Amino acid sequence: MISRNENLCPLCGGEKREGKTTFTVDYQDTVIVIRDVPATVCAMCGHEWIADGVAEVA
Ligand SMILES: [Zn+2]
Repeated sequence: MISRNENLCPLCGGEKREGKTTFTVDYQDTVIVIRDVPATVCAMCGHEWIADGVAEVA
């Protein structure tokens, strides 16, 4: 049985913490760079999850 814990990294089981990241989006022939995006970062492996809503760019 697997219990989902939102506070743990699904990749390595490390602790996820609030932080900031740089988010890049490929848009047509351009790469858009968005800095200081609120994100959740794994303290163990460094994997990043963009906060809900931020990545939903039309
Ligand atoms: Zn991790």
